[in-house]
Amino acid sequence: MNDSTNPAIVAALLAVRDRAYAPYSHHPVGALVISESGTHYAGANVEVAHYKGICAEASAIAAMASAGERLLREVWVIGPGRHLCTPCGDCRQRIREFADKQTRIRVVDGQGRLLKEYDMDALLPDSFGPENLAS
Ligand SMILES: [Zn+2]
Repeated sequence: MNDSTNPAIVAALLAVRDRAYAPYSHHPVGALVISESGTHYAGANVEVAHYKGICAEASAIAAMASAGERLLREVWVIGPGRHLCTPCGDCRQRIREFADKQTRIRVVDGQGRLLKEYDMDALLPDSFGPENLAS
């Protein structure tokens, strides 16, 4: 599971990042999520002129949820450079919605080399999730 050099994952990340629509930020990001069934869902950031675009992680999670799946096993994120391109605050909450204790979030550099791995507690400590709404 923790194979940072998995060529299929890296190829999918590079491909989806290259399809990002980022004419305003010039910061293309790709995400690949692996669901409970093992299906891969990819997403890229898609910007719009009024700057309220959608992040790559949100795009990939929306694809997974739209397919009827509700559990993230792995989340992979790739940015354009060598720096950590970590999920933003909004995406951390979106990941949290579909994560469990086993979910792993991995950020790779622009070439696909693993930079950092998180579990949900590290990514969003003391997070608020669906069970917090239970009476
Ligand atoms: Zn985001």
